[in-house]
Order: sequence, then C-alpha cells, then structure tokens
Amino acid sequence: MRIVALTFHDVIADNGKISPHSDEFYRITASEFEKLLSQLRKLGYQTANSRQFRAWQEGKATLPERTVVLTFDDGYTSHFDIVAPLLVRYRFSGTFFIPVDLVEQSGHVTWQQLRKLVFLGMEIGSHGMSHEPLTTLSREQLEAELVDSKRILEERLGSPVHSLAAPRGFWNQPVADAVKRAGYEAAWVSEIGTNGHDTQPLALRRVVVRRPFSVEHVVAMVEGWQPAFWWAANQQLLIKALKRVLGVYWYEQLKRRLVPNA
Ligand SMILES: [Zn+2]
Repeated sequence: MRIVALTFHDVIADNGKISPHSDEFYRITASEFEKLLSQLRKLGYQTANSRQFRAWQEGKATLPERTVVLTFDDGYTSHFDIVAPLLVRYRFSGTFFIPVDLVEQSGHVTWQQLRKLVFLGMEIGSHGMSHEPLTTLSREQLEAELVDSKRILEERLGSPVHSLAAPRGFWNQPVADAVKRAGYEAAWVSEIGTNGHDTQPLALRRVVVRRPFSVEHVVAMVEGWQPAFWWAANQQLLIKALKRVLGVYWYEQLKRRLVPNA
C-alpha cells in the first residue's frame, strides 16, 4: 500500500478579498477545496495525520486502504476560518505546519486559533521559526530553528510536536540529521511521490496542490495514477532546476518578479 500526502497553502473565500500574504501559485478557493474533499469522501477516502501515518509505517497501526494525508503549510488565518470547518464537515483531519515567527502576524493564525485546531483533533507540526530555507543556515541557526520551534509550539499548545515540514521545500542530508537530533519522528518535503513502509521518514513525499487547480488531477494523484505524477513532476523538475541554477536567493527574486504578491 502507498499513501499520498497533499500540501495546501492559503485557501481563500470565493469572491473574497485576495490575501496579500500568500503566493498565488499555491492559492485555491474554498469551493475548489470543498469540491476536492467531497470527491475524496465520495470515493471512500479517510485521512491520516502525520502521527497516524508514521504509526502505520512502523507497523504499529493499520490504515484503511483508501487513506490520504492532508497537510497545510504556513499557518494562514484561512486554515482556521475556512479549512478546519470544512475538514470537520467531511469528517477529515489534517496536519498543520506552523512557522512560529508568523503566528499572530497579519494574515496568519493566532495562538488561540491554534489551540482550537488542536481541540478539533488537528495535528500541529513545525515549519521552523522564520520560514527561511533550512539548507542555507549555519549549524547553530539550524539547531535553533528546529529545537525552538518544537519547544515553543509544545509549550504554547500543551501537545507534543512530532513532525516538521521543510520551509520552501529545501532539504538535504545534514538538515535531515539535525531534524532527527532535534527529536522529530517525521519530516515532510516537497518531493513528488507516494509513501510506503520503505520511505525514509525524514524525507516523506508530498504533492503540492497549486494552480492551475483541477480536482480530477489531484484525485488522480491520490489514486496513484502514474501519468498524473509525471505531469506534476515535470513542473516540479523545472522549479528544482531553476532553484539549483539560480540558487535560493535568485530563485526567490525571480519568483517575486513573476508572481505578484509572492
Ligand atoms: Zn512554507
């Protein structure tokens, strides 16, 4: 059995005002999100959070044959206002990766909203402190991003943090080693693919949901239909090549030029 994890970013209200806090490549509307949930429900899917996925991976728990992992990055206000109520309505749950420095900032969740998400049965994971790519940091900065974010989330929410998502998808072996030392059991990256018992738990794959958005395409990937992965992987390869050729700084500069509000 292979399990697909999806990554979402900002989910905006239909006809709502456009949030200047999120990247339009990765933004979908509430009705697009709901259409996807409704289709997954119709197909008989259930969700596992990161913790439940890891328990299955280690052979400590079973999961229904049709299981999908839903993850939400960057702690947007919409995750509390729009995403959580829809997840509850469809009896799904999610794992929310929070960049700690952005909590209480404009367009982002508050600590009280995060506590409510925990109360609703959502899992909270770390997305670092500053949202800087972990691969560009000194050893000390890297330790601080990983250790402090975990500790602060645990103290503020009164609930253990087991998982991390790599900010901006940058990942390498020294980062994975530091993540392990900091006490995480799972790290999710942005490499497209499916996850099985054999997948490295500190480099779990996720499919980033982005524009142009199509319920059919996302569902095809959740269903494990290979051509849908190839298509998404080619887009991803282009982005990866640009990041490698340009370096993190120039890639971000280019993206800022190409995508207003990025
Ligand atoms: Zn992020």
